Amino acid sequence: MIPLLKPQIDKNVVKRISKILSEGWLGMGYVTKQFEDEIAKFLQLKNRFVVATNTGTSALHLALIIAGVKNSDEVIVPSFNFVADHQVILMVGARPVFCDIREDNLGVDCTSIKKLITKKTKALMVLHYAGIPCDLNGVYKLAKEYNLRVIEDATHAFGTKYNGEYIGSFGDITCFSFDPIKIVTSVDGGAVVVKKAEDMDKLRKLRVLGINRDTIERYKSNRVWEYDVITEGFRYHLPNVNAAIGLSQNRKVKEFIRNRQKYCKTYSKFLSKIKEIIVPETNYKNVSPFMYYVRVTNNKRDTLIDYLMAKKIQTGIHWIPAHKFSYFKQYAKARLPVTEKIFKEIISLPLHSYMNRKTLKYIIETIYKFF
Ligand SMILES: *Cc1c(COP(=O)(O)O)cnc(C)c1O
Repeated sequence: MIPLLKPQIDKNVVKRISKILSEGWLGMGYVTKQFEDEIAKFLQLKNRFVVATNTGTSALHLALIIAGVKNSDEVIVPSFNFVADHQVILMVGARPVFCDIREDNLGVDCTSIKKLITKKTKALMVLHYAGIPCDLNGVYKLAKEYNLRVIEDATHAFGTKYNGEYIGSFGDITCFSFDPIKIVTSVDGGAVVVKKAEDMDKLRKLRVLGINRDTIERYKSNRVWEYDVITEGFRYHLPNVNAAIGLSQNRKVKEFIRNRQKYCKTYSKFLSKIKEIIVPETNYKNVSPFMYYVRVTNNKRDTLIDYLMAKKIQTGIHWIPAHKFSYFKQYAKARLPVTEKIFKEIISLPLHSYMNRKTLKYIIETIYKFF
């Protein structure tokens, strides 16, 4: 079976992990800090701060707290998104309000957002689907006009550029994920990027149960047990072992991205010739592609999935929109016609950081055979 997504773990990871295991400090420590520094370097951050977390979901949760979102506030978010985003909005006691998306980039539709803004709206949580940036010019214009915070879910977009700058290097609050299937993985992991040093300090306390000195600082002195708890907090820190895996991956990320861009362009070049297929509207030049998707029209998507499965090609649907779930259907205030349509057409095809030509050719030819 050709898997849909596949982590790229290279040999030197084992060496790095053994070193850390033998040093005996498995929890958060100097490697976590190194990983944060490398992320900042890769994203060319100036006047921005990175705080690593144990998952992308916890990064999004802390981002909402930093944005000051709380009880009975509303957060506008696309229903066409991973349910992590919707759950964290509930976790801070706020209410998700589902907006629609645009057909060209499958990111938020600002006209749809505008209609949903109320006095209770506190933030916009926007996604860069499959690594393709959403309409950030439009989003930040709305945010300014209505005084809203913006949380960019950049879990798909580590390495994507917008107007020539890396996503994360210019926004309000940006969140990344390094979970098992993301381009860079630390097995599980995430990061929040913020503008103010003060917010970085807050994040560092929020991720270690509200303790005022994290383990690195405490072990510098002999009196490890002396600390104060000064805020709410969670057990969200990223251990050294995970950071080491992330670090070794991060050093190769440019190569991962270049390869993925090449594979996506090959897919688009051939698949765009099929009448029933709509390929993404991008040349992938500044996109760090987390997934490759196409839209299949004429109700042929589900039979294509079965056909490819029989030919040992795994595909996926990202995602069932949240307003279709029992727990979330109550949060759809407006009709979401584009979301409904895309949900019936979307299919993700295998995309890895290293694919051989034969595999790619086989997938494309099999799709041709189906049509
Ligand atoms: C991966 C992902 C997350 C959550 O990240 P985890 O690290 O898995 O917790 C959130 N949103 C989207 C769109 C994702 O793909």
